[in-house]
Amino acid sequence: MHKEIRPDTADTTRPDNVRLYDQDALWVRSYLDDPHYRTKARLVRGMIPEGAQSILDVACGNGAIANLLKDYWTVGGDRSLTPLRHVTGPAVQLSADSLPFPDRAFDLVMCHQALEHFSEAVFHPAIHELARVARRYLLISVPYRERLAQQDARCADCRHIYHVWGHLRSFRRVREVRNLFPGFELRIHAFCGPENSYMTPQGLWIRQRLGGRWAVTPTALCPKCGSRSQFAAGFPRRAIAAVVDRIEDRLPRVPAFWWLVCLLERTGASGDSIVARQPLAP
Ligand SMILES: [Zn+2]
Repeated sequence: MHKEIRPDTADTTRPDNVRLYDQDALWVRSYLDDPHYRTKARLVRGMIPEGAQSILDVACGNGAIANLLKDYWTVGGDRSLTPLRHVTGPAVQLSADSLPFPDRAFDLVMCHQALEHFSEAVFHPAIHELARVARRYLLISVPYRERLAQQDARCADCRHIYHVWGHLRSFRRVREVRNLFPGFELRIHAFCGPENSYMTPQGLWIRQRLGGRWAVTPTALCPKCGSRSQFAAGFPRRAIAAVVDRIEDRLPRVPAFWWLVCLLERTGASGDSIVARQPLAP
């Protein structure tokens, strides 16, 4: 049984699913309608140090955060043109592993909810590029201790199993993020978002493999065959999943918030103390 439980850390053998991120349905909605996301956006903004004036938001999506930073010189960059149409300020189509900017071009480089999507081929070059282009600060957020398998869908057509949001890796420790950037020191980190409610690996395995209940979202797209059909078993298998869910609901959980946000500063940057800005009023 355990052989089939997918590890929660990097599973970068999975293919990059370019078409997943090109769906307009992912980007037409305002992420700020979600109160957790609003809180996150305020937190991110509040963590931008005094003195930072130019900002690059790598993998900015539809500008959910970049559009809030109009009082800075903020450039949004994303691989896909579909979300960039929603960015209200300067926007550049780019790939995170090859940023079209000179060294230290921006006071602060931010990257939110993107590192977990990067395939192995992109991840390490992208980390290098974020650090290269940042003059002084990096502001990075990732899902915290995500158990990837819980958001797995099963393609109804080809049976391929894939993460519905395209996440390929999970960050288990704050120092995992810090250690990605050896030329930087971690200054502030914070958690925000809803509290996770993860099942035990065994319960999840039974629910998915025996109960036939997998994650379902309208924008999921099988990276192997391109199908949108997501498998869900009928009765009686789904009764197994229902029983497992009821048992799991009664088990104690280790609470953890959904996002980790880290502010890092280049080692040896001028000795000015950092003064965090006040978060925006709600
Ligand atoms: Zn498929």
